[in-house]
Amino acid sequence: MNTVIYPGTFDPITNGHTDIVERAAVLFDKVIVAIAASPGKRPGFDLAQRVALAKTVLGHLSNVEVCGFSSLLIEFARKCGANIILRGLRAVSDFEYEFQLAGMNRCLDADIETVFLTPSMENTYLSSSLVREIAALHGDVSAFVHPEVASALSALNGQQ
Ligand code: ADP
Repeated sequence: MNTVIYPGTFDPITNGHTDIVERAAVLFDKVIVAIAASPGKRPGFDLAQRVALAKTVLGHLSNVEVCGFSSLLIEFARKCGANIILRGLRAVSDFEYEFQLAGMNRCLDADIETVFLTPSMENTYLSSSLVREIAALHGDVSAFVHPEVASALSALNGQQ
């Protein structure tokens, strides 16, 4: 059985992340969406909120599991029985960092491969940080995120 782990900050989950997970759910037996605590990134949503939002958004996919983690990714992947790491590539600008990350993870465990998927064109420009910025300035994010995420962003920005 091929279990793939899709790690990230997901602060918050966007339609771009969902696009990647939906593609992976077709290709792999099991997809683990692993939400990193990432305290160094000072996330807008705490880990429990990010996990809860991702569970809501991805609830329609039966072979997808969502969990939070705060350890080294490779350790967490091994613990979950995942032999593949999945990352999304939006543009060339993502490539350098993703290439470095994949190389570093290979050094840590040569048996775990990294694979990349690309989203559909309309999700290519989407990032959690841009969505957070638009929402903080009271812009409409409904085209970029699930309605539950849009509500959570409104609450975060004191609009409810
Ligand atoms: P990280 O802090 O690990 O970059 P993110 O939540 O920003 O966490 O991203 C997690 C993964 O999802 C990364 O591989 C990133 O390139 C990918 N990703 C983010 N947004 C999109 C998008 N709109 N389309 C495709 N992949 C995306």
